[in-house]
Amino acid sequence: MLELRQITAGYGGTAVLRDVSLWAPPNSVVALLGTNGAGKTTLLRVASGLLEPTVGQLLLDGEDVTGSQPHALARRGVCHVPEGRGIFPNLSVRDNILVQAAGGNADEAVEKAVSAFPILGKKLTQSAGSLSGGQQQMLALCRAYVTDPAYVLLDEVSMGLAPVVVDELFEFLGKLAAQGATLLLVEQYVSRALDLADYVYLINRGHIEFAGEPTELDSDSLIAQYVGAS
Ligand code: ATP
Repeated sequence: MLELRQITAGYGGTAVLRDVSLWAPPNSVVALLGTNGAGKTTLLRVASGLLEPTVGQLLLDGEDVTGSQPHALARRGVCHVPEGRGIFPNLSVRDNILVQAAGGNADEAVEKAVSAFPILGKKLTQSAGSLSGGQQQMLALCRAYVTDPAYVLLDEVSMGLAPVVVDELFEFLGKLAAQGATLLLVEQYVSRALDLADYVYLINRGHIEFAGEPTELDSDSLIAQYVGAS
């Protein structure tokens, strides 16, 4: 269980999140939806230890891990796939996978990544920066996948990608969830996110305004209000 408890957090003394609480129970998919600038990325940064809250706690399986460094949380299975993907464009596809799998079996990691997205198998020696946007996002997801994370924090995976590519990425996320990972998903494609989600949070100006199951949402009005895209 990943839990944010009454978090206030922001930048340079300005609070972006105010009194935000969120639960991501084991083996669930949690969608976090909201308008631009609502604080979604900031919430993911708190959850992965990149940003320390000024008030409130981050708990992992009931243990207070507030203030832990990102690498310490990563070792405990929290994996952040940031907006912009966080890959190393000048390294080869293979080396991008290996950087993430450091310490593990290199061949196994590459094999696992390629089994998720076979197209990457044909590009292993190319620089990551030479891949298409969709392939770069596949690589970013694979880098997360090879470490077998318990929690995967995903920021706008579909950003700027063609629908057919987004379908493939979401199919993979479904498999990841089916294998037992807990996903916290920030997404602008509302209907895709809701299809996958067990729980949904709506955030507006740093406040959680709805938390519940997707079926409880008055989706037409709320979704139109919050995001618009489908
Ligand atoms: P978007 O969908 O536009 O990415 P978001 O919901 O992810 O939005 P955040 O990126 O968390 O929102 O940003 C919330 C607010 O915090 C915005 O007003 C933004 O300008 C501000 N902000 C974000 N990052 C920083 C930073 N590094 N320094 C100062 N302010 C920031």
